[in-house]
Amino acid sequence: MSKSIRALHIRHVDAGSCNGCEQELTALTSGYYDIQRHGIDLVASPRHADALLVTGPVTDTMALAVKKVWEAIPSPKLRIAFGDCALGCGVFQNGYASEGGVKEADLEIPGCPPEPEMALPILRDWMRTHRSGQKAYSEIAPDSQSAV
Ligand code: SF4
Repeated sequence: MSKSIRALHIRHVDAGSCNGCEQELTALTSGYYDIQRHGIDLVASPRHADALLVTGPVTDTMALAVKKVWEAIPSPKLRIAFGDCALGCGVFQNGYASEGGVKEADLEIPGCPPEPEMALPILRDWMRTHRSGQKAYSEIAPDSQSAV
């Protein structure tokens, strides 16, 4: 099944972040940046989500939680790596308890932390590209069983 994207509901998992990324995520949902007006929102349940967004390097203790949340999101679905740690290149990349971030992210948002002025255009442009039918959802979101 494939579908173009009109709205993007995101389940966020903090996988060992220092909370810098969370502060910027919170700013994105504030009235100032207001990602909801672009059809993007954070949701509490993976069952209501289209995407898994991970912050942090994916610590050993959080790897199972990330995997379970990924499996709970209905297909088609995608992975978003938010911040350098989730991209595997952050300050914790060589940490003894780091899994090295998200493997095979569909969308990467770099920065330490990613500033809303940069993250918002990336998300908005990605939505615009897929909304216009340039790519079908399933082409970029294979039903993989593993998020890390
Ligand atoms: S990318 Fe930077 S701000 Fe985000 S969790 Fe890593 S160290 Fe913290």
